[in-house]
Amino acid sequence: MDPQEGVTKALSHRDFSFWRTFENFCNLRIQTMTERDVMEFDVVIVGGGPSGMATAIHLKNLIERHNAEVEKTGQGEPIPGEVVLIEKAAEIGAHSISGAVMDPKGLDALIPDWRTMEPKAPVEAEVHDDYAIWLTENGGFKFPVTPPPLKNHGNFVISLNKMVKWLGGIAEQKGIQVFPGFPGAKLVREGDRVTGVQLQDAGVDKHGEQKGSFQAGGILAGKIVVLAEGSRGSMTKQLISDLKLEGQNPQVYGIGVKEVWEVPAGQCAPGLVVHTMGYPLDSQTFGGGWVYGMGQTEGGKNLVSIGLVVGLDYKDPTMDAHRQLQRMKLNPKIAAFLKGGKMLHYGAKSLPEGGLYSMPRNYGDGFVIVGDSAGLMNSMRLKGIHLAMRSGMLAAETAFQCLKKGDTSANATKEYWERMKNDWVHEELWQCRNFHQGFHKGRLMGLLNGGFAQFFGGKGFLFADNIKSPAGHTFMKTLGSYFKGKGKPKQEKLAQDGTLTFDKLTSVYSSGTMHEEDQPCHLVVTQPDLCSTRCVEEFGNPCQHFCPAAVYEMEEKPGTRHGVDLKINASNCVHCKTCDIMDPYQVINWVTPEGGGGPNYTNL
Ligand code: SF4
Repeated sequence: MDPQEGVTKALSHRDFSFWRTFENFCNLRIQTMTERDVMEFDVVIVGGGPSGMATAIHLKNLIERHNAEVEKTGQGEPIPGEVVLIEKAAEIGAHSISGAVMDPKGLDALIPDWRTMEPKAPVEAEVHDDYAIWLTENGGFKFPVTPPPLKNHGNFVISLNKMVKWLGGIAEQKGIQVFPGFPGAKLVREGDRVTGVQLQDAGVDKHGEQKGSFQAGGILAGKIVVLAEGSRGSMTKQLISDLKLEGQNPQVYGIGVKEVWEVPAGQCAPGLVVHTMGYPLDSQTFGGGWVYGMGQTEGGKNLVSIGLVVGLDYKDPTMDAHRQLQRMKLNPKIAAFLKGGKMLHYGAKSLPEGGLYSMPRNYGDGFVIVGDSAGLMNSMRLKGIHLAMRSGMLAAETAFQCLKKGDTSANATKEYWERMKNDWVHEELWQCRNFHQGFHKGRLMGLLNGGFAQFFGGKGFLFADNIKSPAGHTFMKTLGSYFKGKGKPKQEKLAQDGTLTFDKLTSVYSSGTMHEEDQPCHLVVTQPDLCSTRCVEEFGNPCQHFCPAAVYEMEEKPGTRHGVDLKINASNCVHCKTCDIMDPYQVINWVTPEGGGGPNYTNL
């Protein structure tokens, strides 16, 4: 615990809801900046996505079963099992976004009767047809056979946002204290031991001064902290760096940009799954697109999920995933799905694509890391929800044993990794461990590598057990080097007609994003001078391109070396973390904004 913070008192977990209600309705200031209330729990879960929710629900099930057994037999000690889950979004699910085709394996394990229970699990449609298309600029062709990793029969098209909301309801019914609108600011540590989470302060103005509404973030002390922050979680990132938890390879990410459309009935049937390769990406850039038929609207129209993933290890400093998605929609094969429709929602997120050897050590003194934060994603199948849920369950089983034994040391939490190694999670990740890295030598090599891996236990092309790879941002070339011999950097004119294609600001509007304007900027540029000097010359300020929400802008500023300086429109931020990952100088640090800020995803 940081002695500078002047902790004043410890409250019981029951005070938490009282504290929140008290503040919300009475608008009273209960503490000064240096006084932080401490609330004690057994387990603190940071993040209300699929992995965090699975941890909470499974842990509560285990504790209930154990305590019932103790009561029945009179043997053993009951476990109090006070569990709290915090989420930075204003509502559970509002920051959750994925393609998404869910392999039901994870949900089957977590809630075996999900298909029949009430309220019904919000799946959009069972997959009834799947195929892959190779796109060219003006057309494309259907693959004669769907590549095995892209076969999806038996899986379900879902909106992750709705699924997480449904899981949140179950968690609350089980007595878990679920608190949306409370972002974690930093982990509280004693040496290498994580002892809790300090919540973000509220009511601080853009100059860092306390406003009348100031509330110092309290501290949630936990015997175990479960980090379920999602991809590139800000506290997880810090912990990995501080405790040197990196895997053999650095994590490599992708960015997924997605729209949900409403189209005339029959145009894209619920349960149709189409994956695309080729256009609009060049052969040196990892990625591909999708079109998924979701459910029907009340008016009898079909909802369609359309999106594109671009590997965040691209070379082109002007790469812009949002723009690439707009180009993809102009292809006649894709435009046909959207004809006569209307774009309803937009969102973006980063994905941890590095695989098994890029996973950090996911346990330590007083903590475990789950889901996207732990790098649990199968980039070959473009799936992670089932892995996230399962990792949450394994974390719950470990936390339960730790509470039972009264031991939360790294020796005890290591059981999480041991369980994972003996689980289908590891088996699945083992098979695709080199998939993404295989594309570092271009698309053809990547596809060959992925194909070989199917038959040689995931070893891939050249039978490498582990294709070594540096961090993704190091692949970005300077303007001079990337455009050498190609003429000046230029982007062809793209019609943004507001019907089929949209500019970034229109897209941001469709994401429902809002932030309190008068707060410290949550995009911390640690060396701002670089932006108007070296970055202009070397990379042409790639933040203007890689941010899918028009947050970064180079505005005219007389007197600077190049007459421009960086302007940050932080309130547009959709929390995808691409800037934190892809900035070539690694000087952008994404930190949590005030609680409740960010996108307001629905149907995504
Ligand atoms: Fe994503 Fe960063 Fe842009 Fe926010 S500012 S939308 S985290 S790239």
